[in-house]
Amino acid sequence: MPELPEVETVKRTLNNLITGKTIEQVQVRLPRIIQKPDDIQMFEVLLQGQQIETIERRGKFLRFVLTDYVMVSHLRMEGRYGLYSSEDPLESHTHVLFRFTDGSELRYKDVRQFGTMHLFPRGEELTQPPLHKLGLEPLDEGFTFEAFRDRIAHKKTKIKPLLLNQEYIVGIGNIYVDESLFLAGIHPEREASSLSKKELMLLHEAIIRTLSDSVEVGGSSIKSYVNGQGEIGLFQHQLNIYGRQSQSCKTCGSEIYKTVVGGRGTHICPTCQPLKRKRIIKKSEK
Ligand SMILES: [Zn+2]
Repeated sequence: MPELPEVETVKRTLNNLITGKTIEQVQVRLPRIIQKPDDIQMFEVLLQGQQIETIERRGKFLRFVLTDYVMVSHLRMEGRYGLYSSEDPLESHTHVLFRFTDGSELRYKDVRQFGTMHLFPRGEELTQPPLHKLGLEPLDEGFTFEAFRDRIAHKKTKIKPLLLNQEYIVGIGNIYVDESLFLAGIHPEREASSLSKKELMLLHEAIIRTLSDSVEVGGSSIKSYVNGQGEIGLFQHQLNIYGRQSQSCKTCGSEIYKTVVGGRGTHICPTCQPLKRKRIIKKSEK
C-alpha cells in the first residue's frame, strides 16, 4: 500500500505533469471507484471544463483542486495515475480517464479496485468524510513537539496502534511506524502515557525524519518512475527494520524479530527497543 511519502511523491509528480490542464471529458469505466456523487454521469459532467489548479495531499488522500470542485482520491492498495496521449491503447485495469483539452489523458489504473474518488464543491471536502476527522499532518509546520505531545502523551494505549490511528496523526502507515519507533528506540507495546519527555521528543523527531527522508528519496528518483508511457510508479526505501525479521540490526547486531501488535505485523530489535520501564519497575518491586 502506498504510504505518505509515496503519496507525496505522486502529488509532486502530478503537479509537474498536469497543473494548468483543462478537463475536456471524463469517462468512468468502473462505477464503484466513484464514491460521491452517487450519479456517475454527474461526476463526468461536473468535471467537464474544470482546470487543474493544483494537487495537494491530506494524509494519504490526494486533493485535486479544480476551478469549482475538489476531487479527493485515495489510491488504497494498488491505485496508480499515469499520463498518456488520448490515442494510446487502453491498458487493462484502467478505470477512470480524464481527457484534457491538449490531447493528453490522465488515466487511473487499479488492479485491486479498492481506490476511491469523491467530488465536492470547493471547501466542502474538509467538512465531510473522508477528510473531516483527520488528525495532525506530520510534514506540516503545525506538527510541533507540543502539538504531538498534547495529542498522544496522556493516552493509556500502546504507542504503535495510537500512531496508526488517523484521527491522531495522519499518514504514518505500518512501515513508517515501525521505522520511527526503531529510530527512537521505543518498543511498540509501550503505553503512550509511559513515555518520558525525552522519548516523546525522540519519537517526534524520528517521525519527521523518517517521512521526510523518504519523500526526498522519492523526489530524487521521480524520473526513473515516470516511464515511457507516463506511469507514475512507486519506489523502494532503505528500511532499517521493516521486513528485516531474522536479520541482524544495523545498529547493534541483535536479531530482529517479527510479532503482532494491535493486529499489525511489527518488527522489533530486542536490544534497541526494550520494554525498559516495565523491567525497571519489576526489579525495584523485588
Ligand atoms: Zn538493535
